[in-house]
Amino acid sequence: MNDSVNERVERLQSGGVVDMHFDLPMDLYEKRLRKDVLETEFLSEFKAGNISVIGAAIYIEDRYLPQNGLFVALDQIARLHAETTGSERFVICKNYREIQSARETGRVAFLITMEGVEPLGTDLNQIRVLYELGVRSIGLTHARTNAAGHGGIFAASGSPTEGLTVFGREIVRECETLGVIVDLAHINPAGFEEIISITTKPPIVSHTNVRRFYDIERNINDEQIKMIGERRGVIGVNSILVSPLEGESTLDRYVDHIEHIANLIGIDSVGIGFDFFEFIYRQWPKSRQKELAAKFTTPHFIPDLTNHSHARNLTCRLIQRGFSDVDIEKILRGNWLRIFEELL
Ligand SMILES: [Zn+2]
Repeated sequence: MNDSVNERVERLQSGGVVDMHFDLPMDLYEKRLRKDVLETEFLSEFKAGNISVIGAAIYIEDRYLPQNGLFVALDQIARLHAETTGSERFVICKNYREIQSARETGRVAFLITMEGVEPLGTDLNQIRVLYELGVRSIGLTHARTNAAGHGGIFAASGSPTEGLTVFGREIVRECETLGVIVDLAHINPAGFEEIISITTKPPIVSHTNVRRFYDIERNINDEQIKMIGERRGVIGVNSILVSPLEGESTLDRYVDHIEHIANLIGIDSVGIGFDFFEFIYRQWPKSRQKELAAKFTTPHFIPDLTNHSHARNLTCRLIQRGFSDVDIEKILRGNWLRIFEELL
């Protein structure tokens, strides 16, 4: 990296990076008997990568369902509150003004998000409860089927062809009424189209890849990308499904995903949803890693993009690939901040 690139990286990073998807609450829940997990295990990476806003995703693993979904979700939120209350480093934010204030005071802002509505059971009223606790973005499903709809599978075809259930449609409407961002990551193609048709606000896909480079229904195709673009939504590019091939899972391929979206719908609709998962994956025994491979796929982690300290590698590569400073700022934070300003 020569000096002028270095200086540009420094300057671009200094405004902060927004990552709309991180499985943090799940890890805090697993480590609930420890104190100061954020400070000891995450802070140095957040600082090194100038991370300023994180979509902290509540996710409930199969082993807790169905009975303990709500309980574990509440405990994940509780852990996040316990780790941030009184902290000068971290803060949970519920609206745009709080996010901006966190950025100005140099604290990492957490926006609580939810990946899959299993914690709601079949009770719409729980959305209001979760909203009061700070949840500001909801994706209806992960890869599985639930009371709201179906997740897109990790294959080029074969996801259920039905869209949302009645409950799923009610959730989407309730989210728009309350001011909760509806996230289209993971939903099957039919559900995706249905959400677009019943919402009025800009839609987001917090973390996904494009099918052009990894053709599975969990990712999104050009038509779906255009649907987001037409409504001035934002798509966060995921780091763990950039290619089915390990050798092609590179930082350049990550930038290819950004470029593909920008070419189709413009630079104002692409952001980051890193979905860094390697730190959880490496804590698992081999048997559990094999289970994941059998159920979904083997994730290929990009060697120089596996944790938040690597955000500056991305900034550097965007410069090398010819992106302008204005465009890079939009990708790193500007586009997500616009969504927060409009929707929260
Ligand atoms: Zn996900």
